[in-house]
Amino acid sequence: MLGPVILAASRSDRMRRLVTAAPGTKQVVDRFIPGETVEDVLPIVRELTDQGLELTMDVVGEDITTPEQAEAARDAYLELIARLEELELGPRVEMSVKLSMFGQDLENGVELSRANVRPVVEAAAAIGTTVTLDAEDHTTIDSMLATHAWLREDFPQTGCVIQAMLYRTEEDARRLAASGSRVRIVKGAYKEPAEVAYQSKAEIDKAYVRIMKILMEGDGYPMIGSHDPRMISIGQELARRAGRKMDEYEFQMLFGIRGDESLRLAAEGHRMRVYTAYGTDWYGYFMRRLAEKPSNLKFFLRSMVSK
Ligand code: FAD
Repeated sequence: MLGPVILAASRSDRMRRLVTAAPGTKQVVDRFIPGETVEDVLPIVRELTDQGLELTMDVVGEDITTPEQAEAARDAYLELIARLEELELGPRVEMSVKLSMFGQDLENGVELSRANVRPVVEAAAAIGTTVTLDAEDHTTIDSMLATHAWLREDFPQTGCVIQAMLYRTEEDARRLAASGSRVRIVKGAYKEPAEVAYQSKAEIDKAYVRIMKILMEGDGYPMIGSHDPRMISIGQELARRAGRKMDEYEFQMLFGIRGDESLRLAAEGHRMRVYTAYGTDWYGYFMRRLAEKPSNLKFFLRSMVSK
């Protein structure tokens, strides 16, 4: 019950001001967002890759209001990619981007976000890696998928994310699997109405399994983005039945969640990628993490009162 309330708060400016100023917030934020600058996060990139993990990097931010902010987002990714080049990790570290941060929701947003994301995709390709377009709320999925198809004309390795909670996603998965895309399947982190999305965990989990099956049986590269032990073991079984080798799909988890399990999967020989977010505009990302697990909220509230 708390999840939807927290997700509604994630879009409120008043709550944003309250939460960011609250004592104790930083301590909890650090668990999920391990730094504000590239300098903060590079040692983590080295540490995780030394442990056999791969990464996808997110410079946090979304819901921007000016084209200048969208350009600043582009530049932040370009700075990150320039620093990653020095580490020579190639495809072991890729980028995740939210098109809203590149201006998709502003006037002429599709053109604006494409103009900003393309240099990032080009820079990533130049250092031997790629970019995945995150999925945001359901109103943005058509334009994200259209931009994904547009980018793939020149950069076929560009990935995208689809959300099991949306009714439309099985159809999207079929199309993407046939076109040989890199696709991350997640359950979905946004508050969505019943007209477009399953509301119960049981229905979302069933859809997740159906979509994994479509992706595993298709021609693309499935990326299983989940911390759910059931989804992970069903994913392994579906990959085996589809005759996929261990390097023909991967698992992905968020930094700060089930770190031991990611190391275990990597030690078993699986490709395991950790979604690592950093930056100053962490509010939306942080609130979605609180919404996913009520005990995170309890921990957060406790840390506030203990200050
Ligand atoms: P759940 O059933 O929610 O959780 C299973 C178990 O995992 C829980 O019991 C708990 O032990 C653990 N767990 C899950 N979440 C948390 C948490 N926040 N804190 C602590 N423990 C937790 N969503 C989007 O809408 N768009 C995206 O682009 C997107 N990208 C993602 C990328 C990656 C790599 C991952 C892993 C998730 C992404 N998500 C994205 C979030 C996703 O939609 C889910 O909200 C989130 O992964 C929780 O679902 P779950 O599959 O882990 O299963």
